[in-house]
Amino acid sequence: MSDVFADLVGQDEAVVELRRAAAAAAAVLRAGAADRAPALVAASPASDEEPAPAAGEMDPSSGMTHAWIFTGPPGSGRSVAARAFAAALQCVHGTGCGECPGCHTTMGGTHADVRMVVPEGLSIGVGEMRALVLRAASTPSGGRWQVVVIEDADRLTEAAGNALLKAIEEPPPRTVFLLCAPSTHPDDISVTIRSRCRVVPLRQPPAAAVAEVLVRRDGITPDVAQWAAAAAQGHVGRARRLARDPEARKRREAVLAVPRRLTGVGAAFDAASALIEAAEAEAEASVTESDTTERAALETALGAGGTGRGAAGAIRGAAGQLKELEKRQKSRATRAQRDALDRELVDLAGFYRDALTMALRAPVAPVHTDTAALAGAGAQKWDAEGSLRRLEAVLACRAAIEANVKPRIAVEAMMLALWKG
Ligand SMILES: [Zn+2]
Repeated sequence: MSDVFADLVGQDEAVVELRRAAAAAAAVLRAGAADRAPALVAASPASDEEPAPAAGEMDPSSGMTHAWIFTGPPGSGRSVAARAFAAALQCVHGTGCGECPGCHTTMGGTHADVRMVVPEGLSIGVGEMRALVLRAASTPSGGRWQVVVIEDADRLTEAAGNALLKAIEEPPPRTVFLLCAPSTHPDDISVTIRSRCRVVPLRQPPAAAVAEVLVRRDGITPDVAQWAAAAAQGHVGRARRLARDPEARKRREAVLAVPRRLTGVGAAFDAASALIEAAEAEAEASVTESDTTERAALETALGAGGTGRGAAGAIRGAAGQLKELEKRQKSRATRAQRDALDRELVDLAGFYRDALTMALRAPVAPVHTDTAALAGAGAQKWDAEGSLRRLEAVLACRAAIEANVKPRIAVEAMMLALWKG
């Protein structure tokens, strides 16, 4: 029952399309094998007289194509969908059975022909992309497909995007690119890349579907699962963390205490500091361990403490590499802080959204059931208009940070707006 698409929550339409594409891809491989069985993987497409089922010639209407974009809000499962599709392409049955070696190794992240690019910094650079495109052009060692999954393709630099575009325009015969991005808006993905890709839109999964998967897969009790699914606002990973991790619950409670704490200007600045520091602490917890391990590994590799001939030159080279590593780690830390702060802002937006729907007496369930009474009190005090203004202040803060306003400045402005209404 649990094939590779089982964890794609509430995305029935996308799953139908991906299954069809995987079957079409398997048919392409079979046709290729029948045509020129002994030389299937070694054949060079340029030498073919016959119209081989090669790259650019794959008919998009046949169900399979070489470049895909998975779009959807954070937590909707873009990378889950991309990974599952990659597994289905490597599956020996062409279905994503979940049991064969191709499925297993892809899902486990160890398949030799599947590369997952997960940017750690704020952007994916051109060097990284060129290296990737080069490796993606090689013949798949497993005889099926070379699959490159680019998570957060919206973080490609312009130069990196151009390098990728070249590969997508003239794809090697057995290479498939799977891009993940929030949307196909030109801010997220260039129009030219978009025009070469098939788009698979994912929706925000309904809370009931998220709760169901938490119960079935993670063994979480139904009432906790329902609460976490609602509180996470359709973000599957976040729901799982809330259900399992007491620290995540504590941080969320601290964020939802903010509206109560805004009693004056001083309190607003205090709340801003608390929010920023909580995000920093969360980010630090998530990156410190890998930072230390990486540094130790690099120091060992460089033979730190060597005193032999040439040690001075080696030390100069080592200093450069350490500096490079520190730069990368700093970029990763910044990203982790932004992500943590953004999660806090989404929680806070949920609270004011609850106040707004209550003021409007809209017949919808609250996002945060545990602060529903507080949101109700807010609704009475602020009315719909005041609740909406506050919700907009939170969303404006997110937009400002996205546009590179210093987080502390944006959060302080938001807190003042929330206090004043
Ligand atoms: Zn399989």
